[in-house]
Amino acid sequence: MAHGNSISPFFSVRNLQKHYPIRRSLLETIRSDHTASFVKAVDGVSFDIPRGATVGLAGESGCGKTTTARLLLKLVEPTGGTVLLDGQDVTHLTGTALKAFRRRAQLMFQNPFEALNPRFSILRSVEEPLIVHGLGNAEERTQRAIRALEQVNLQPVSLYLDKYPHQLSGGQLQRAVLARALVLGPEFLVADEPVSMLDVSIRAGVLNLMRDLSKELHLTTLYISHDLSLIRYTCQYTGIMYLGKLVEWGPTETVVQTPRHPYTQALVAAVPIPDPDQPRGGLEISDQPPDPIHLPSGCRFHNRCPFVKESCRTAEPPEMVVEPEHRVACHLVA
Ligand code: SF4
Repeated sequence: MAHGNSISPFFSVRNLQKHYPIRRSLLETIRSDHTASFVKAVDGVSFDIPRGATVGLAGESGCGKTTTARLLLKLVEPTGGTVLLDGQDVTHLTGTALKAFRRRAQLMFQNPFEALNPRFSILRSVEEPLIVHGLGNAEERTQRAIRALEQVNLQPVSLYLDKYPHQLSGGQLQRAVLARALVLGPEFLVADEPVSMLDVSIRAGVLNLMRDLSKELHLTTLYISHDLSLIRYTCQYTGIMYLGKLVEWGPTETVVQTPRHPYTQALVAAVPIPDPDQPRGGLEISDQPPDPIHLPSGCRFHNRCPFVKESCRTAEPPEMVVEPEHRVACHLVA
């Protein structure tokens, strides 16, 4: 089954899993049936990310999108599956190979107000990754940090170098966080809810900057967001996750304009429309996702799905290719 476009992918993810064991008290263990319980945060996810593409992962809190990103960044060890980067298996890197990988893959944190050390100046914060990786002498590090601050349009840079995080606005701080992520010259950037903590009035500026820099620097970028409108604005490909599974994947316009999975249809219907006179349509589902420890049998969405049929309660839907690059896991498309 195809999982991306025909160009050799930058990231190739197959059957990726991350299961977290549940800690239990002794009493709970004695009372239970002694079977270990797990939260299946990511449970068999497969996709390709073409080099230079911007990809979005969307879904409710707890769907596994952030864990998937952390697995790609090698911040957590997978329970199973493989991750190839440029055809090389990076699933279980350690030591110097892992350190070299970290120069290629960077994370832009969600909350700029907590991402920078309050005791470091902006210059010191942006230089920090260079220091950690032992790159350049003091003068070279300063020049690279200045260049990164110029790239994120914190200009004139001289105004910001000696400032401390509390002296910057949220938008300026997020630009400094982006500069710190870019200073190592990464090829892959994960932006986890990159503007959710920012004032609405400055979100577009930060998103436009990220979009321009992705093109200019040929970055491969993964956006994590619960906000489909943000992903539609920034991403070429979109994956929709539900309770650890990838339920739909495809070119963003295809996924948003012609969603095939009922959960995607509900997410699309929930996107706010700025015109109050425009009628709302689409699917509505109940608010509550199931307990992630006691997952429903069959399709994990079946207790919220308006189209549920008997087979959905017992048989897990396989991923089906509905058109080139567009995959859906739902019995309705089988
Ligand atoms: Fe709904 Fe069945 Fe499709 Fe699951 S498999 S989304 S329950 S129709």
